[in-house]
Amino acid sequence: MELKTKDGYYLILKDLMPVLEDKIQKLQRRAKKLNLPTIRIEQDGEVVKKDRGRVYEFIRVRPMGDAPTLDGWEFIGTIRHTPEGNIIAVVPGSKYEAPAALRDARPMCDHCKTRRARNETYIVRNTKSRKVKQVGRSCLKDFLNGHGSPEAVTAFFSTFRSFEEFLKSLRDRSETSGRDKYLLDVECLLTFAAQVAIDDGYFVSIAEARGNKDVDSTAAKALKFLHRHMDPSFERDKPRLTITKAAEQMAADIMAWVKGNFGGKSVDDMTIYEYNLTVMFALPGVKPRDVYTVISAVGAYKRTQEREVARRAEQRRYKQSQHVGKVGDRVELDLTLMKTRTVCTDYGDMHIYVFEDDAGNVLVWKTSTIMMFVTENDEQTFKPGDRLRLRATIKDHDEYNNIKQTVLARGKALAVLG
Ligand SMILES: [Zn+2]
Repeated sequence: MELKTKDGYYLILKDLMPVLEDKIQKLQRRAKKLNLPTIRIEQDGEVVKKDRGRVYEFIRVRPMGDAPTLDGWEFIGTIRHTPEGNIIAVVPGSKYEAPAALRDARPMCDHCKTRRARNETYIVRNTKSRKVKQVGRSCLKDFLNGHGSPEAVTAFFSTFRSFEEFLKSLRDRSETSGRDKYLLDVECLLTFAAQVAIDDGYFVSIAEARGNKDVDSTAAKALKFLHRHMDPSFERDKPRLTITKAAEQMAADIMAWVKGNFGGKSVDDMTIYEYNLTVMFALPGVKPRDVYTVISAVGAYKRTQEREVARRAEQRRYKQSQHVGKVGDRVELDLTLMKTRTVCTDYGDMHIYVFEDDAGNVLVWKTSTIMMFVTENDEQTFKPGDRLRLRATIKDHDEYNNIKQTVLARGKALAVLG
C-alpha cells in the first residue's frame, strides 16, 4: 500500500492519530514556553483503502506553522550558508517561494548593510509591500521586537524539521503495522455470507447453530472462507469459496435494502437492531465485534424475501375472493381454518382466525377468547387445516393486501366437520 501523497499531505492510519495528537500537544506546550509560533496539523478528510475484504482508514494531515508577524514584518525563513551553497528553510505554511537569487546569496544583512562571516541569515518580508529582506542575527532582533530570540526561531525550525521526520515515521508505521489495524468491508462480509447461504440453501443464525452441535452458523462458515481470502497463504490446502454473480447481487440488494431503511421506514419505526445495521452499513468498515450483526442482515433479508414471496402467492391465490353475506346478517358458514395468529394489545391478547370458505373467499374473525368447540364433556381448539361450522355476524366487508375479506364478529363454533 502506497501512502505517499504529492501535495505535501501524509496519510496517517486513523488508529495512530492519538499518537500524533500527543506529539502536537507536547510541541505546542514547548512553543508557548519559548514564545514561538506553534506547529499544528491541518487535517483534510479521510481516505479509505480496501484490500481483500480489509478496510483501512487514513487521515490526510499536513504540518503547518504560522510565520510570526512583527511590526509589519513577518519571519519567512532561514538561509544556512555552507561552503557548498545555501540551504533555505521556509516557515511551513508561509507559501513563500524563495527566489533563485537566494540560493547563492552571500551572508549579507540588508538592514545594517554589512557582510560578515555569518553561518545563518534570516528572511523577513514586509506584510504590506511584500518586500523581502535578508538580515543577520543581531539585526533580526529589531524585527522580532522581543517576540523571541533568533536562537528560538532557529529552534522552531529544527523542531519543525524533526516533526516532519516524526510524521514520516508515523506514515511508515501506517503502512506496516496497519496490517492488523483494519476494519472489515461490509459488502465483502455480505457477499461471503450470501454465497454460503446460497450454497447451503438456507441461512443458519448464531442462535440456531448454538442449539445444534451438527450445524455451523452461516457467519462462522463465511468468516472461515473470508480469512482464507484475506490471506491467500493461510490454510493453503483448504477449499476456497467461489463467489458467484448471484451472491454479489444479493449483497448489493442487502446493502440497498438496509441503506434504504428497510423499505423506507422512519427511524422511529426501526428496531434497535435495524437502526444499528443502518449505522454499520454507513461506515467504511466494521470492527470484528460487529461482523456477526452485519452478517445477520443476510438472514433478515432472506426472511423478508420469503415473507414477500408468501404474500404474493397468497395474493394470487385469493385474487378471486369475494365478500360474503350482508353486513349485519347473522349467518352459519362452513369454513376451513387457514391461519391463526395471536397479537398482544393494550386490552390483552387478540386471536386472529383467517378462514376460507368452499368458494375460496377469505373471512377473518378477531376475538379476545380462543375459538373452541365445546360439548358436554369435551372442548376442542382448532389448528390450520381444520374444518368447522361457524355461526357469526357479518361485521364488515374489508380489503387487506388487495384481497377482499369478510370480517366476522361474535363467532361460535357449532360443529367440527370431517
Ligand atoms: Zn544587520
